[in-house]
Parts: sequence; C-alpha cells; structure tokens
Amino acid sequence: MNNYTYTAVDRFLRYVQIDTQSDPQSKTNPSTEKQKDLSRVLLQELLDMGLADAELDEWGYVYATILANTDKTDVPTICFCSHVDTSPDVTGAGVKPIIHQNWSGSDITLPDDATQVIRVADHPDLQNQLGNDIITASGTTLLGADNKAGLAEIMDAANYLLTHPELKHGRIRLLFTPDEEIGRGTEKVDIQKLGADFGYTIDGESLGTLEDETFSADAVKITIQGVSTHPGFAKGKLENALKIAADLLATLPKTSLSPETTEAKEGFVHPTRMEGNQDQALLEFIIRDFTEVGLQEKETYLQNQLNDVLVNYPGSSAELVVKEQYRNMKDVLDQHPAVVDNALEAIHRAGLSANRRSIRGGTDGSRLSFMGLPCPNIFAGEHAFHSRLEWVSVQDMHRAVDVIVNVAQVWEERA
Ligand SMILES: [Zn+2]
Repeated sequence: MNNYTYTAVDRFLRYVQIDTQSDPQSKTNPSTEKQKDLSRVLLQELLDMGLADAELDEWGYVYATILANTDKTDVPTICFCSHVDTSPDVTGAGVKPIIHQNWSGSDITLPDDATQVIRVADHPDLQNQLGNDIITASGTTLLGADNKAGLAEIMDAANYLLTHPELKHGRIRLLFTPDEEIGRGTEKVDIQKLGADFGYTIDGESLGTLEDETFSADAVKITIQGVSTHPGFAKGKLENALKIAADLLATLPKTSLSPETTEAKEGFVHPTRMEGNQDQALLEFIIRDFTEVGLQEKETYLQNQLNDVLVNYPGSSAELVVKEQYRNMKDVLDQHPAVVDNALEAIHRAGLSANRRSIRGGTDGSRLSFMGLPCPNIFAGEHAFHSRLEWVSVQDMHRAVDVIVNVAQVWEERA
C-alpha cells in the first residue's frame, strides 16, 4: 500500500511483552486474568482509533465495529478474529523481542540461550526471508507471534481503513478472544452480539496461506475397572487395571495411526493421559481425522482393541466415552464459497500466490464455523509457534495487513 506507514510492528512489539499465557487446568473464564492486561491495551487502542463501541466483556473478549462507508446496503458484515493468549507449553513472561534487520541467510542464535538456534535447515520457510527483518524472542521464552502477529495485523488494517475513507467497505467486526490455545477460545463468545455474516481468523503460518480445512476432533475417555485384592493373596484373583491399560496401549500400531507417524490428510489415535491404580485406571485419547467416517472408524478400532484386551481379564470391565471437540470447517465453508474465493482474491491482490491448504489441528474458526460464522484461517506469518524458536518477519506482517484490507474491499466490490 503506497506511502502507508505500517503500525503493525510497533503494536506487535508492545503486545508480546505482555504475558498472556493461558492455563488448561483453570476452570475460570478467561483461564488467566492476565490475558485481560493485553485485552485492555487493545480496547484502549481501538477507542483511540475512534471505534466508539469497542468493549471488553467480563469473559475477556474484545469486540469493536468499523462502520460501513459504502452506499451499497447488501455488503455482508465481515469479522476478523485473533486470540490474545499464548501457549501453556512455553513461558511467555518477560519476552524480549529482537529484530534481526536485513537477515543474511545464516542461522540465528538467540542471545539469552546459545543452545537456541533457528537453523535454516530446520526452518525451510526462512529461505524466503533473505533481506527481510526477522523478529525473534531472546532464547528463554516463546515470542507470541501466535497470535499477537494476527492481533497487530488486524489493528493495523483497522488503522489503514479508518485513515483511508476513500477505500469502500461494508460493516466490519473485530473480535479478540482469550484461551484459544487451550481449546476454549469460543466458549463465551456471543455470536448474536458479534452479528457478523462471515469471518476470518488471522492465525496462520506462511505468506499467502489460506486454510479452509481442519481436523475433525473427538476426545475419548476410557475408564477401566479391574479386580483389586491384597497382593499377598492375589493369585488367580487380581486383575490389575494398570496392566489392562498398558496392554491396550501396547496394541496400538507402532508405525501408523499416531501423530509421530502420520502427515497430510492422515488421522490418528493419540493417548494423552494415563492415571490410576490396580483397582481403576483412566486413559484419555484424542482422535483426529479429516472426515466423520474416519473418526468413527478410529473410535470403533479403539473399542475393538479394548474388547480384545478385556478377554484376558474376565472379571474386569471398561467404559469408553466419546466427546465431540470440533469438526472440519470445510463442511460449512463449502456451502459459502465466496468466503474462500474472496480471501484468495485478496491474497492475489497483495501480490502473493495463494496457498490453499488444510491444517492438522483446529482453530477458533473451526468452532465459529459451526456456530454460524463460516471462518477460514488466513496467514499471519507466524512460524515455529509454541517454541522458543518462534519467529515472524516484518515484511510478512505487512503483507498480512494488505490482505486484510483487501478482503474488506473485495467483499464490498462483489456485493
Ligand atoms: Zn494461534
């Protein structure tokens, strides 16, 4: 965008220094109060921009409206969404962002821990960043580009639209959520109040990427009831629930069906937690596939393995309970092709080649899509997220701002 002084990087450097780590053990909304420290900053910046209805609710959600400036009355309301929290996996306290100007192509050693090296060999996307300015953390924390890059880009795009009234757009809603990283990002979202027709999360990886397909996801809990006796008097009686659980895990294939052995469109059965004693054991799994049928096959498989194991423990029993987590957004997006088409056009207009792909995970958009807000995921430039090697480039962030602005414009043009 000619002559525009981008604000995304300034904002980003501010946001990442605020610790917003979410906590999967917490029962509260938001899961950590400190997430609101950033939400309050966003709220103030939105108000300062002139978005008078900007609000932060008690659950930690920020909503704001950019009013339409077009005469057309049938332009759909578009929502742009990012999350304020960072991953529980790596600390986000005391982040010291560093800009590596005009990157020369050599490995980047992070100053506060020399064992933390961003190697070109391990980060193939770096090869497209020669001469760019790369932002990293200092080696002891994550950076938080996931998803503060997205926040900064949406805020900058809002700033652009508000300072360029000649660029026509419909009504735009901004939504900043807490607790995405612990799968609770849409728990308290008020979809009525949001009042948008279509949405985009800005939370993807490489330049030009649009993700319109996610895993479908279920959680499985298996409770095993063994037969408990005093170990000194156990012969022929004891059926140890821990051993039943271990037997079940041992039946899982070693070269397939796991996160560590699958890629692309392959699903998996993944044990995530195990606890118990000889009397009772609990196993938790996550099941992933791109289709409902694939999910059911995997759940049936697990049930069959369990039944087979139990044959050796006639006094014991087990219960397998499936809980739905989220579904592949593609089922919804296919019914609203303009959502993806307009985003692809917006990416092209930013001078990028669009890379449409699926994501081996879920996003806030997976749930939002099934809540009535079809919502694919656009790149934010985030890389190596949930790690101390996380990085984003200034130039990629600016292209993401361009794409967001273009999305608003394309919807107006095509209405
Ligand atoms: Zn994210």
